[in-house]
Amino acid sequence: MAADCVFCKIVAGEIPSTKVYEDEDCYAFADNNPQAPTHVLVVTKKHLTDIADAGGDPEAAAGLLAGIRGLAEQENLRDFRTVFNTGAGVGQTVFHVHAHVLAGRPMGWPPG
Ligand code: 5GP
Ligand code: ZN
Repeated sequence: MAADCVFCKIVAGEIPSTKVYEDEDCYAFADNNPQAPTHVLVVTKKHLTDIADAGGDPEAAAGLLAGIRGLAEQENLRDFRTVFNTGAGVGQTVFHVHAHVLAGRPMGWPPG
């Protein structure tokens, strides 16, 4: 748990969230500013700052991928987009690794 980390506080239940999925390593909840009909954030229970940081912790990284899979299975998502913003320059605002899982509308490529 990192002091002043919004997502650590959500994992700890100190900030309310709409839980969608949970397992041993991950917690997943609805984004409060959804960009698609389904917009879920999958976060590691352990505080890591971004996906590059998580890559240095193979157990946590594998747990995060397993969490995305578990969420997709539970919610019956077949087509979904997974986004990891890394760095303020591309819009990361919360420095606790999180996968945006987006689904339910057409999505172009490249994303723009
Ligand atoms: P980032 O821009 O860092 O990739 O994504 C952070 C995401 O977290 C944003 O989409 C934002 O809407 C969401 N978010 C930030 N604070 C909260 C919160 O307190 N509750 C929920 N549910 N989502 C949050
Ligand atoms: Zn954190």
